[in-house]
Amino acid sequence: MSYDDNNIFAKILRGDIPCKKVHEDEHVLAFHDISPRAPVHILVIPKGKYESIADFGAKGSAEEVKAFYAAVSAIAQEQGLAEAGFRVIANTGLNGGQEVPHFHVHILGGKKLGPMLAQAA
Ligand code: 5GP
Repeated sequence: MSYDDNNIFAKILRGDIPCKKVHEDEHVLAFHDISPRAPVHILVIPKGKYESIADFGAKGSAEEVKAFYAAVSAIAQEQGLAEAGFRVIANTGLNGGQEVPHFHVHILGGKKLGPMLAQAA
């Protein structure tokens, strides 16, 4: 599969559509999810064209990967989530329920989030 330049996060990165930004650096952008599933629900994306966490892990440079996880940590701190805890989710591909084909993690917190999955296996 090749990267789709018209996916919604590519448009956000180009500034074609707005976002509520919480963090930006050379390699990373983070913003509030448009339909939050928790009191804090932030999406963190690399600026590079990676479709999934698997793609990012395989092809991202060491600098990009470090910047990405450093941003996740910093955002959790800044949002006051670190002490009480939070959840990071990377939906991947069809079975993972990934809707937007640009790698992103969801940072969710601000309350007890309940079981990891809605249904048992
Ligand atoms: P996925 O299912 O791919 O892991 O999650 C995609 C997420 O992107 C969803 O939680 C959805 O609410 C969010 N989303 C979709 N379109 C937009 C948008 O235009 N702006 C923002 N901020 N979030 C979006």
